Amino acid sequence: MIIVMAAGASESEISVVVRSIEEMGYRPHLIRGVERTVIGAVGDERGKARLQSLETLPGVENVVPILKPFKLASREVKKEKSIIAVGEQVRIGGEALVIAAGPCSVETQEQVLEVALAVKESGAHLLRGGAFKPRTSPYAFQGLEEKGLRFLAIAREKSGLPVVTEVMESSQVDMVAEYADMLQVGARNVQNFSLLKRLGTVKKPIFLKRGLMTTIQEYLMSAEYILTHGNPNVVLCERGIRTFETATRNTLDLSSIPVLNEITHLPVMVDPSHGTGNFQYVMPMAFAAVAAGADGLMIEVHPHPELALSDGAQSLRPSKFGLLMERLKPFAAAAGRKL
Ligand code: PEP
Ligand code: MN
Repeated sequence: MIIVMAAGASESEISVVVRSIEEMGYRPHLIRGVERTVIGAVGDERGKARLQSLETLPGVENVVPILKPFKLASREVKKEKSIIAVGEQVRIGGEALVIAAGPCSVETQEQVLEVALAVKESGAHLLRGGAFKPRTSPYAFQGLEEKGLRFLAIAREKSGLPVVTEVMESSQVDMVAEYADMLQVGARNVQNFSLLKRLGTVKKPIFLKRGLMTTIQEYLMSAEYILTHGNPNVVLCERGIRTFETATRNTLDLSSIPVLNEITHLPVMVDPSHGTGNFQYVMPMAFAAVAAGADGLMIEVHPHPELALSDGAQSLRPSKFGLLMERLKPFAAAAGRKL
């Protein structure tokens, strides 16, 4: 249920409502909008009719059910798009597009630093790079783990770019959160509910990728796990889904962008690298994503894609990434975004 407070409701009236929600055994989530505060009450669906009685409290305008199965992620609860802060400077979901770029895997200090400085020079806002890698084959490179996180931290220091990197399991969360500015949940972990719950308790923002086989509704239910466990800072990322098509690694579902923009207030980024699996298709799909309303992009960049330990085929050389950033400008302007 959503408890909509009247436009001039006082702080003490809000506190009374919050306390009453807790007393009824529900979890209150305060959402302060430009005009008014709304309070989401989430918990057992069966007894929710009791919440209707809150309508009689002073300062309450009305109590309405949330129709979507995802509650806190829904536009019903929050009409304006959320703006998610990463580090001191980066804001995802506002007018400015946010570009995350970097290697698939952190391989050496030189490699990640070279990419960080090059993508920064071309106008990227975040550095990406995996230290814990979810690989299909157990014989493939699994990542440098904590050493990789240290390399990323040094690249951040030298480039000034905040770092987004993947966390694969709950036991790694504290370590990854210590080094990273934003924690990535990979496509394969999108329904790892114990990891999602754990990420609800961290103070850093979460970059949640869509799964290979998750519907948009299932995807938003995954975001809901993080939100309802206490972390409101979630950014979504469309990275392609599995279909019958084999000409591309995945089918980049660009239609999810307008759908998500309609039903959730969470920012939506797009990863055309994993979405296509081929460096030649990254640029056109990046343009299309921005034209369709994406709030940002995640792009894999490697100084020597032919030598990359993972995802070389879909990685851009730094010079090609620079070209993409230049050519993206008219698309950003046409979509009413700053770059
Ligand atoms: C990645 O970002 O390198 C990655 C493994 O992505 P995904 O989880 O989308 O496959
Ligand atoms: Mn990759």
